Amino acid sequence: TLQAIRAASSGPGHLADGHAVPLLANIGSPESAREAAARGAEGVGLFRTEVLFLGAEKAPSVEEQAATYREVFANFPRQKVVVRVLDAGADKPLAFLTDAGEENPALGRRGLRALAAHEEVLRDQLTALAQAAEGGEAEVQVMAPMVSTAQEARYFRDLAHELGIRVAGVMVEVPSCAIMADHVVPNADFVSIGTNDLTQYVFAADRLLGSVAGFQNPWHPAVLRLIQQVGVAGAEHGVPVGICGEAAADPLLAVVLVGLGATTLSMSSTSIADVRAEIAQYTLDEARALAAIAVAADSAEAARDAVAAAADELD
Ligand code: PEP
Ligand code: MG
Repeated sequence: TLQAIRAASSGPGHLADGHAVPLLANIGSPESAREAAARGAEGVGLFRTEVLFLGAEKAPSVEEQAATYREVFANFPRQKVVVRVLDAGADKPLAFLTDAGEENPALGRRGLRALAAHEEVLRDQLTALAQAAEGGEAEVQVMAPMVSTAQEARYFRDLAHELGIRVAGVMVEVPSCAIMADHVVPNADFVSIGTNDLTQYVFAADRLLGSVAGFQNPWHPAVLRLIQQVGVAGAEHGVPVGICGEAAADPLLAVVLVGLGATTLSMSSTSIADVRAEIAQYTLDEARALAAIAVAADSAEAARDAVAAAADELD
């Protein structure tokens, strides 16, 4: 009905049975924060803070960082803002964090590995975030990129809590982290699956290399089965499971991800309206049935075709 179409084209994300699926934005600057708020994002699921400092020679001060974070947070009163601490390395080198001359930087000391090796940078960032959160109205949470073990998850959560941030999670974007989800999840206040890196590492195919771009497809059951394991662990432990990779911006794949256990979806804010409209057409049981079809397929293409055919039958 017209009413249903209108309800689906604005407001909070939900399934056909009313089950809420918050639709959050991926941002990297104060400008993109404003745009996300204008486009009806229910908050931020991924704030890529390294984007702010890509040209910087030395680490930004606590004060400088806090001012920028405040500007971003002001757009999301009473909404969640998940801030990713600096994900330096590989495709996002930062002069003050990244080791020059690594032969395989995507497999090197990037993300939390680089921050743990320069812990003062991580402490300063968490301190700046805690300061910016204080007195503001946004619900600020932090998460660590490139986590590969349960011990790293615990290290990050302990440090964030120590520095005054109450909610600290990890990105699941390295296969070891998904394979060990039952041990990682209890050491995190939430997890957020980064399907871009997860796909690159599952297939050992550089996400920046055109000649192997065909592998970079999160519809592949090799990726979906790992996401399913994380979804199961999250449900068992009562830990939220977000998705913040490009996969969440594909409307039909978003339905599958919810069926696999995703509790929130974060994407470029230009995709929110399409994803909102698509997920509103399926109940949670239907999303789970579509997810089961996807994980049973033998290729990305077969998964997408089979899910599309089954979705048509439901309409
Ligand atoms: C990801 O890897 O899926 C992700 C969301 O982070 P980025 O694309 O910034 O590496
Ligand atoms: Mg990533």
